[in-house]
Amino acid sequence: MYFIFLYSYALRMRLSLKYKFETIISALLFLLPSFSYSFNCPAEIIQSYFLTTSGTGDDEGRWNEIEFCNYVEELANISKSISYFSPVVTKIHLKVSKVSIQAKFKEGGILYFPQNYKNHKGEFILEKKLANYLYAHEYGHALFKQYLKRELVFLETFYKNFEENDQKIIEADIAMEKILTMKASLTEEQMKIEFDKFINLYNEFKIGEDSFFTNNEMILLHEILSPYNELFADVIAILFSRNSHAMFEALKYPSMSEAETKMLSYRDFSISHGLEGWKESEAHSFFAPVRNYIWEHYLKNVIDESASTQRETVLKLLTTIKQEIQFYYHHTEKFGPYECNKSLIANLMKK
Ligand SMILES: [Zn+2]
Repeated sequence: MYFIFLYSYALRMRLSLKYKFETIISALLFLLPSFSYSFNCPAEIIQSYFLTTSGTGDDEGRWNEIEFCNYVEELANISKSISYFSPVVTKIHLKVSKVSIQAKFKEGGILYFPQNYKNHKGEFILEKKLANYLYAHEYGHALFKQYLKRELVFLETFYKNFEENDQKIIEADIAMEKILTMKASLTEEQMKIEFDKFINLYNEFKIGEDSFFTNNEMILLHEILSPYNELFADVIAILFSRNSHAMFEALKYPSMSEAETKMLSYRDFSISHGLEGWKESEAHSFFAPVRNYIWEHYLKNVIDESASTQRETVLKLLTTIKQEIQFYYHHTEKFGPYECNKSLIANLMKK
């Protein structure tokens, strides 16, 4: 969203000002006061880190170096504490914003995370503890990807496509960084080159993303993986928080409708949802019956145990999920939520 804003703004400026880059850049700086890359705060679990705005162009406050580095470190520490009980670890590209309506992990390796949330009604929500649960969930997606990429050969191209494409966004960020930090020393021609690089990389990224949605293999894999992905990310949040209601509590807001609250209850591991006739197909709700099974037979027993005991449990879940994904990939006939929940529970019972 941010890029769409920046891109359309830049195009408008480009047409009317014919590459007067100083003007464009100062306008961008005016509109995007939090866009800056000059901080250096290494954290071992983070491969690279960027700032972004939420895309509204509003002045949402300026980051200062201490604030930014503290925040990166805070998030890196959550990843670190998860890595003690996770059988896989992975580095991520972290992109933080002042405020956003959502957090997101992109399969190419970028984790978007805001410092503050607002929901679609504009309410500011979420205490720090709950925001940390959401970060744990997003980092869980990164771990899930890392594990499957290592274990399932048929997913190699799927993840490689995303990684190569997300790399373009990272390079676009770097090109923009160069413009913003070196604008005083760049000639107009050099500015033009960097700006074109930024626009081209962004265009290539968009074309790549669009092509994934017309590629049958990519669509199929995305469809198979999504419910397992959401389930596993929730498991990580539950173990991190040691709270079976973690996702429900983190995502609940006061004006939520009854129907929305019901949907959200599918993420609460303590609530039992009857398996018979289960037909919720939305990725986050798909495995509600499994969630409760996992809580009762796996997580509840290890929530206060050592990291190594928890790691064994997570590995059992991952190997079972891997087998399920393998099965469905090789049996492309459509299996619904009932069959998938039943099969996963039956296989978890055998472990
Ligand atoms: Zn998720």
